[in-house]
Amino acid sequence: MTINVDPPAPRTAMRIPLFLAAGLLSIAALVGRAAAQDAERIKVVATVPTYAALARELGGSAVDVIVLTRPGQDLHGVAATPSVMARVRDAALVLHTGLDAENWLEPMLRGSGNGQLMGDPLRFIALSDGVPLKEVPSQVSRRFGDVHAFGNTHIWTDPFIVRGMAKRVRDALVAALPHQADAIDARYTALHDRLTHALVRWLTDYAELRGRKVVTYHQSWVYFLDRFGLERVGTIEPKPRVTPTASHLEQLMETMQTRGATVVLREPYQHPDATDFVSQRTGATVLELSTHPGFPEGNGVDGVVEHFEFNLAAIATALGLPVSTPPEDTAPESAAPGDGEPLRQAEGTGSR
Ligand SMILES: [Zn+2]
Repeated sequence: MTINVDPPAPRTAMRIPLFLAAGLLSIAALVGRAAAQDAERIKVVATVPTYAALARELGGSAVDVIVLTRPGQDLHGVAATPSVMARVRDAALVLHTGLDAENWLEPMLRGSGNGQLMGDPLRFIALSDGVPLKEVPSQVSRRFGDVHAFGNTHIWTDPFIVRGMAKRVRDALVAALPHQADAIDARYTALHDRLTHALVRWLTDYAELRGRKVVTYHQSWVYFLDRFGLERVGTIEPKPRVTPTASHLEQLMETMQTRGATVVLREPYQHPDATDFVSQRTGATVLELSTHPGFPEGNGVDGVVEHFEFNLAAIATALGLPVSTPPEDTAPESAAPGDGEPLRQAEGTGSR
């Protein structure tokens, strides 16, 4: 093999020995391949940890995932600060709920200079598209609170809906990373199967949840409660994102006692005063849970399956019901609280 290093070197110049030139070419080829793979690594922005978990689980090392809210944060109240705008500037894909769940997202993307992405349905993925909404008002109005004007947008609380979202995230990732379609599809099939098996087991093992009564703080659990047959007898907020009054809480406590609701679900960002007050007066257990993976931190609940596993186990335990055990080969350590493990309860120590 002859290797020409053009232009011809002057006689006085040091010539590159053949073996060294071949080595340099191999290195160049390797660097070229790495660059090609880097080019196939994209930044995915997710508004909530559930969408981020799906992007990570399906995209593997081909995605850098930026999540705009923490598991314990209020999705409706995010500030579009310059530092957040900088993080979304070079996003290749944005996974969001749509409708009025993230009213801050559009100004954030426009402010970042990446506003043109919103015109591309292959890059700006509204995961509520095609999902039948619950609590749809008879007319679009802010009369029922300052969010949920089109219906309840907390669709990620139902593992069945999340399984459908996984398919949409797969499609978006495959469109963005066509050379990695096989790997993405294999990860999707694995997640789909794991979630399906878990769903069947949860619906069987947690059948006794059906008809049990709970109170939630915001109207954020309705898809979860309906999936597992739990009944919400009321909410701490009289309307979405409206602070409760004393008379509202009095009425709620009366309903709880009449209907036999013994558990109150509070998310980490929700102020513990109202739930503590209700708990002290009624004896109800307050469970601090997130509707997203990653909470409680460090409990191995970063994946969507592990997240639902944890929440179901926590709620069953609070209701005095047995906890379902995941099969050993798919159960990450500490995915669910054990029998003797105390559940996190709101005792005035929760962060906002
Ligand atoms: Zn809401």
